[in-house]
Amino acid sequence: LEIAPSVPRGAEVVQAVEVGYFLRMKQIFILGLCMALVSNAKAKNESLVTVAEKSGWVKTGRYPEMVALCKAFQKAYPKQVRCFEFGKSPEGRSLMAMAVSGSGVLKAEQAAKKNHPVVLFQAGIHSGEIDGKDAGFYLLRQMLEGKVLPKALTKFTAVFVPIFSVDGHERFAAYNRPNQVGPEEMGWRTTAQNLNLNRDYVKSDAPEMAAMLKLLDAWDPLIYVDLHVTDGADFEHDVSVMTEPSMKGPEPITSVGKEISTTLMKDLTATGHLPLSFYPTLLKEDEPTSGFAYDIMPPRFSHGYWSARNRFGVLVETHSWKNYATRVKATEDTLASLFAMVAKNGAAWKKKVRETDLAAKKLAGEPVTLSWEPSKVSHEFEFLGYDYKQENSKISTLKKIAYDPSKKKIWKVPLFDDLQPSLTITAPKEGYYVPLAYSEWVGEKLKLHGIDFEILKTEKKISVEAFRATEATLEKASVEGRVRQTVKGEWKAEERTLPKGSLFVPIAQPKIFLVMHILEPTAPDSLVSWGFFHASFERKEYMEAYVTEQVAVEMLKDPKVQAAFDERLKDPEFAKNPAKRLEFFQRRHASWDDRYMLYPISRL
Ligand SMILES: [Zn+2]
Repeated sequence: LEIAPSVPRGAEVVQAVEVGYFLRMKQIFILGLCMALVSNAKAKNESLVTVAEKSGWVKTGRYPEMVALCKAFQKAYPKQVRCFEFGKSPEGRSLMAMAVSGSGVLKAEQAAKKNHPVVLFQAGIHSGEIDGKDAGFYLLRQMLEGKVLPKALTKFTAVFVPIFSVDGHERFAAYNRPNQVGPEEMGWRTTAQNLNLNRDYVKSDAPEMAAMLKLLDAWDPLIYVDLHVTDGADFEHDVSVMTEPSMKGPEPITSVGKEISTTLMKDLTATGHLPLSFYPTLLKEDEPTSGFAYDIMPPRFSHGYWSARNRFGVLVETHSWKNYATRVKATEDTLASLFAMVAKNGAAWKKKVRETDLAAKKLAGEPVTLSWEPSKVSHEFEFLGYDYKQENSKISTLKKIAYDPSKKKIWKVPLFDDLQPSLTITAPKEGYYVPLAYSEWVGEKLKLHGIDFEILKTEKKISVEAFRATEATLEKASVEGRVRQTVKGEWKAEERTLPKGSLFVPIAQPKIFLVMHILEPTAPDSLVSWGFFHASFERKEYMEAYVTEQVAVEMLKDPKVQAAFDERLKDPEFAKNPAKRLEFFQRRHASWDDRYMLYPISRL
């Protein structure tokens, strides 16, 4: 069992780090060897054993292994397992899922009909962080053999996507994760189109995401689990599990989310882990004293997305500096805790979800909070860190940090977990109108998200609210292939004629939070924010300056216009800006484009 070091370490690294690293490598070897011997001996069916398990948890298999395992599980357990394809990747690979149930509920329609709880869990959305694939196959085999949670699978259906980013998984190399210990080789973070799927939930540019949204919509899982590995600092904690909603969100599910999070922490501690319920990113990079914050992620992320649909989203992040065997075990124990909870409470929690859906439908015309951020209030948190040294670097000139994993140290640091609303918008009383010119592609997006809408059968003349931006600012660089945009402005009453074929999106639907996240122009992951409406904020027709000069002379004959112009001239910024001075008159002229800076979607 030869272990490839995850990253070549330079001479700058202190000796202690090397010692810690060696200890961990030794730990890999012993733990891996034990697990390999024990599990291989017990496995009933060799075809269900992963390359990872056979290697003593130092390697992971390739894409064809995943497809073969999926089929082999179905072959070994035809009544309990269905292996199926749910889409194709841009490089033509099949996206595979496995439905596993002890009560024969192996199709989405059956689960819907029987109101059967479903847990959908996925690995390899970032394919280099592949712990979940090998943990999932191992745990499901143990469950099917009756060795772990023997009756649980009769109470819910597990839907397992072993590799979400299949093309990324096959960009396979030893150094794809420079801040991670094992497996020996692993996949790449993004898709073949270089998109990060865990930013793509709302905009859904990637074909893989469109397939996933359809899978989620069909199965409507009570819990959607997304399995990752962290980046960032080095410390003792081995796993972080973020459950949404569990701090702020609609009731009654937020209370259930809190219960899920608390039970996870308790179960993981009992199985020997050191879990965290927040993402351990230092507020200031490489500065442990800066502490941590609890973040509620927007719906571009898996767990933020699924909680915006009034279900539970769980983000699992094993700690990248623990070895592969340790991380796979942490992932397995996290899944086992969730499965045990769903087996016990799934039916009751499905009722809470339905109550939340019904309550959401009544939020029409009410203030709805779409984003939260931590206030300046914090409390001291005893974080299980390592000793570290900070000194000025001759290489970067920055203050560098070197952790010493051989010396445990409690960091008494601030944890900012007092969350306050940072974006609250009053929901429309009726809903949103998408004019005909945009109805086709907006309609396609809404369908992908399972959002209900109607198509107007006749032309409609109506008083609506329109959003006219006073400012529209593009970000300087592209993000995920799009130039993001922020707009300022407000909804104000206007008249509209909506052609036949325009869309009406009623607000009184369970997915009200997601509807508002997508259609409110100021929401962080709205279609506007992701740059789908750039054209609406571009100026398209101009009155020449020399024409404006003549028009202005005529206009100024009106004393009211003269008075208004004089008033504007008191602003020195305006007075010294020729373009703004001309625009003052252009805006008052009948030729002014009344659709410039107008968001085409209106609301009522
Ligand atoms: Zn990740």
